Formats: sequence, structure tokens, C-alpha cells
Amino acid sequence: MLTLKFAVLPGDGIGPEVMAAALDVLKTTTSAAGIDLDYQQADVGGIAIDNQGSALPDSTVEVCEAGDAILFGSVGGPKWESLPPAEQPERAALLPIRKHFSLFANLRPGLLFKELTDASPLKTERIPDGIDIVCVRELTGGIYFGPKNTRELEDGDIEASDTMVYKKSEIERILDVAIASAKSRSGKICSVDKANVLTTSVLWRKTATEYLAAKAPDIELSHMYVDNAAMQMARDPNQFDVVVTENMFGDILSDEMGIVCGSLGMLSSASLGTQNNQHGHPFGLYEPSGGTAPDIAGQGIANPCAQILSGALMLRYSFGLNELAEKIENAVRKAVKDDCRTGDIAFGKPSMTTSEMAQAIMDRL
Ligand code: NAD
Repeated sequence: MLTLKFAVLPGDGIGPEVMAAALDVLKTTTSAAGIDLDYQQADVGGIAIDNQGSALPDSTVEVCEAGDAILFGSVGGPKWESLPPAEQPERAALLPIRKHFSLFANLRPGLLFKELTDASPLKTERIPDGIDIVCVRELTGGIYFGPKNTRELEDGDIEASDTMVYKKSEIERILDVAIASAKSRSGKICSVDKANVLTTSVLWRKTATEYLAAKAPDIELSHMYVDNAAMQMARDPNQFDVVVTENMFGDILSDEMGIVCGSLGMLSSASLGTQNNQHGHPFGLYEPSGGTAPDIAGQGIANPCAQILSGALMLRYSFGLNELAEKIENAVRKAVKDDCRTGDIAFGKPSMTTSEMAQAIMDRL
């Protein structure tokens, strides 16, 4: 019997609530297909600081290393906001995990179901069929990881610098992820850069052009400057299919895509590593795009869809179980279409609790 081994890190706030729902959906989906789940749970973020004195204890890293993927909730909250920035849950847990597992590719589906167009700040006539795009962001290079410096100048002034660095090989490996994504979709990639100003972007654009021509000539490649891409995302997001970009531009653009797609409670994400797991697929970390939602934590009313859809991405990318992933995605779509809603996506319809929403999804698997 096939067994899926992964780490479960629920984290803080609504994390444990939506994680319980996602695990229920995963168990129901896989057991019907004769697949076993072997997961181990561990503390991360604020709860790990409280219990073990560190946002990412060694024991948690060991649990992650023992599995083929990580299903992650979210971390942080008001209780830990007074800690020094370097010790705060997001910075002290998420960034080191990304680094430790070389999670270089972040995929965020920008998916807004037709039934939920009300959730988007865009006028419905601009997105009559909802939104369906993907942002592929390079996650371990660029200005966030390049050399940094702060120094006092001779005249007493203070100067700080961050350096944006990219290697051709780093650009090519993120292009591989974008190509794979585009091949499973409409075959279009828009590469976003700032090649009119930045040297790294000149290399990015040249590499994208040459690499796509050599490796995937059937893919339609376009280039866009990041300032224009930000405008186009707000004007007509569906002109994109797969957007590929460097770390900082992707950080900003993917958040813009998130708000254009409505509730954070629906948005999942996958961060893929350089290493393959024992199934021959990338080791990855799968998490909702939103945070710990302290305003509704503990009430059992959070939307579990983002966490459930993150579980579906884990099945697809780290275990190669595309059909089961689609089964979950279709069940979520069907539940929403049948007016099963949590408060964040209710828009006048009756609201369900987190566990009722999970049950509605399981009923439609
Ligand atoms: P947030 O994303 O937690 O919440 C923003 C708004 O969206 C809130 O009104 C919240 O109720 C709503 N929301 C988010 N997810 C929802 C869901 N599943 N169902 C229903 N409503 C949902 O943003 P914030 O207030 O900026 O951050 C809160 C905490 O989370 C902070 O400590 C922050 O550092 C942390 N955070 C963690 C991550 C992560 O772990 N990856 C990401 C972002 C923020």
C-alpha cells in the first residue's frame, strides 16, 4: 500500500483549526484511494516559542526531515509581537525553513471561483468568469538574500544597502517550474522584470528568452516590466496565465494577485525545494497565503479552504497524485457553488463553521 509521509506544522491562531479540517479531507480522499497517511505533528512559531523557547526547534526540523513534504499552517500573533524582530515567529521560523530545505520556487494559484466574484475588489464585469492564473516566484535569491550593509560615512551621514544578485542557473531552475506549470495550463508565460533599469533583470530577460527558445519553444513567452505588471494585475488579471518573476517582485505581485482574488481564506501556496523526495518528486512546503487571523482565531469560524487546497497542492507536487488533487479542488469548487460558505465568503448567505465547511467538502469528494 502506498504511504504518504509528511510533517504537519499547524502553528498559531487559526492554524490548528484549519489544519484539523485539511487533515480530515486528506484522510477521506486518500483512504478512498487505498493510500495510507503517516504524518507527524510538531510545534512551530509562537507555540514553539512558548513550549520550547524557539520558533523553529531542532526537533521540529527533524520531523520535517523525516517526511517527504511539510503541510504548514501559519505562525505569529499579537502575543509575540513585542519580541525583537529577529525572534518573531514569521522571521524566526519561516525564513530558516525555506533556507534549510532550499525552497526556491513559490507557486501561488490566483484562483477566484466564478461564484465568488463578489469577494474581489474588481468590478464583476472585469472578471465575469472569476480568475485563474498562477504566480511563480523565485524564493531564495535576489535582494532579500544578497549582501547587506549599513555604515556611517565620513560626513556623519548613514548609508544602508541591499544587493540584488542572481545567477543564470538560479533563473533557469525557476523557469523550469514555470514551464512545467504552463504546460499543464494554457502554455503561456509572462516573465516580469525591470530590464530597463536593473542589471539582474537584463540577465533575467536574456536567460528567459534563450532558455524558453531552447527548452520549450511551444510555450508563448512575453516580457513585462514590473510596474506595468502591477497595473495590469489590477486592470485585467486574466490576461496572464503563468507569471514568473524574481523574489521581491514576486512578493509584491503575488500579494496584489491575492487581494484581486478576494478572500485570503481561499488562497493556497506551494514552495518547492531543489531536492527530490523518495517518491521522485520535489520536497515542498504547502501553506495558506494568509496569516493566523488573530481577529477570528479560537472561534471555529475560519475558512479551511486555503489549507485544504494547500493539501491538494501537496498531493500534486510532492506525491505526484494529480487526480486526487483535482478531486479535492473540484469538491471545494462544488461546495462553494452549492452556497456552502464560511463568514469571509458568505456575502449574505448563511455562514458555516470551519468543521461544517470541511464536512460539506468531504460530502462532495
Ligand atoms: P491575516 O492574513 O492573518 O488576516 C488578514 C484578514 O484576513 C483578517 O481579517 C483575517 O480574519 C482574514 N483571514 C485570513 N485567513 C482567513 C481564513 N482562513 N478564514 C477567514 N478569514 C481569514 O493577516 P495579518 O493580520 O496581517 O497577520 C496576522 C498574523 O499572522 C501576524 O502575526 C502575521 O505576522 C502572521 N502572518 C503569518 C504568515 C505565515 O505564517 N505565512 C503570513 C502572513 C501573516
